[in-house]
Amino acid sequence: MTAKQLNEIKKILLAKKEDLLKVVRDKKDQELQEKEVGDEVDAAVDSEEKELLFGLTDNEKGLLASIDSALRKIEMKKYGVCEGCASKIPFERLKAMPYANYCIKCQPKFEKNK
Ligand SMILES: [Zn+2]
Repeated sequence: MTAKQLNEIKKILLAKKEDLLKVVRDKKDQELQEKEVGDEVDAAVDSEEKELLFGLTDNEKGLLASIDSALRKIEMKKYGVCEGCASKIPFERLKAMPYANYCIKCQPKFEKNK
């Protein structure tokens, strides 16, 4: 995979992450409006990331973890390698599913019924 392709994947991942976090922020805004929290808000900022995760469904949490894991792999230059057979995952597949951990052959073996 070229650096340019990797960059493209990274952008897709970051955009997806941003989308997810935006959903959570919107949910949190709604909660705050309902609760009318005063001074507590300042103290809560530090743990914002943790609190944000409370607003996520299990599905969204899983997706976020997959995105973070993919971003970490990019940083460590280990991205795009199948965790099953260690072969390279084709760019086209990664572009469609940037947090894929397995190649097409290994996917059915490792992925639970989805
Ligand atoms: Zn594989």
